[in-house]
Amino acid sequence: MSFQNMNIVDPLQRAIAKEGYTTPTPIQMQAIPHLLQGKDLMGIAQTGTGKTAAFVLPILQRLSEDLKVPIPGNPRVLVLAPTRELAAQIDQSFATYGQFLRFRHTAIFGGVRQGPQVRMLSRGVDILVATPGRLLDLMNQGYIKLKGVEFFVLDEIDRMLDMGFIKDVRKIVSDLPQKRQSLFFSATVSQQTGEFAKRLLTNAVCVEVAPQASTLECIKQRVFFVDQNNKYPLLRGLFNQKDMDRVLVFTRTKHRANKVAQMLNKNKINVDAIHGNKSQNQRTKAMNDFKSGRLQVLVATDIAARGIDVEDISHVINYDLPNEPESYIHRIGRTGRAGANGTAYSFCAADERNILRSIERLTRTTIEVSEHQYHSEQAKNAVGAAAAEPTTQNRSGAVSRNARPKSMHKSGRRKSSPVSRR
Ligand code: AMP
Repeated sequence: MSFQNMNIVDPLQRAIAKEGYTTPTPIQMQAIPHLLQGKDLMGIAQTGTGKTAAFVLPILQRLSEDLKVPIPGNPRVLVLAPTRELAAQIDQSFATYGQFLRFRHTAIFGGVRQGPQVRMLSRGVDILVATPGRLLDLMNQGYIKLKGVEFFVLDEIDRMLDMGFIKDVRKIVSDLPQKRQSLFFSATVSQQTGEFAKRLLTNAVCVEVAPQASTLECIKQRVFFVDQNNKYPLLRGLFNQKDMDRVLVFTRTKHRANKVAQMLNKNKINVDAIHGNKSQNQRTKAMNDFKSGRLQVLVATDIAARGIDVEDISHVINYDLPNEPESYIHRIGRTGRAGANGTAYSFCAADERNILRSIERLTRTTIEVSEHQYHSEQAKNAVGAAAAEPTTQNRSGAVSRNARPKSMHKSGRRKSSPVSRR
């Protein structure tokens, strides 16, 4: 199937051609025809599959078939996304794919002044992309009404629930009109996402693409068993490889992200860090510098990097393995985009051994072990308590391994409403 025989209108075809897309991705092939017919959709797909265009294109087409003058504060399309970066990116996709159509759109999110966002809303927008926190704030202040919403998209609902947005999302949903088209995207399926889907969707078509393991096929994955206190020298040494062009490094905490960035910086590597404690302006600047190639390395925590679409990332390095095995897939999905080859290196200390086991179970792969001068047999063979997540008692390492970010419960799950992340 091609974009041409999908009944997509000419202005969108031109934008698609300008972007250089020749064939629809599987999620686009499966979702667009249903969405053009006005059906509700449950999409199980992760970032990197082309899911944004899968909903942006049909929504733009349906809007263009029935253009109206936008009413101030009353969007016709509402897209909810978990992070500011993802919201900004989706908003940009509306601009890109809709460049030959006339409509107004904006993104609203926390961490920046609300004044410019309110001004934009009061002029009237057709499409509003929002994070839940800022949307509720502005709804409560009377700047936004949802009664005119015809298309509602919940993107990365699994992440939104993980981040503690469940109550906010429920409140938003309860303000939506009954008659609407709803789209729901999640990378993973759980009881909670299932319940949400039931509540939201009517006679929905379910589309599932790229089962988790297969998306990873074009990514070269390696694990480095290493003691915590050798992680930094190991990382430094990897930069002697020639092909480390654009490298995204993940750490578990903001503090460690800063430390790793500082140490690489001392070694004359162009690096910056993004995490929840950085201002929106700092985050945007770091992202732009990374995209443009001014930065060779970006060090990030999971939340900050979620949904980021930077092309040509050569390597993803898990300096620390993530708490949740699903995050491993999200992280390494940043490389190997759209069929390109990428490399994912994971550092695994003894106290991360069990996390690695969960990752291997989830992805149904055994990750190849890399040989290197800091190899730790102890890490490789750790079992029982030695292989479990760190506690305050056994913290160690050149970069002290913070046992858990402050917002974590003992179980390792995040607490509700992490305001700073909105
Ligand atoms: P997403 O999953 O929406 O984050 O998209 C991942 C990347 O795929 C983005 O960089 C898109 O620009 C790109 N993309 C989306 N659709 C296509 C397509 N049909 N052909 C090639 N690239 C695409």
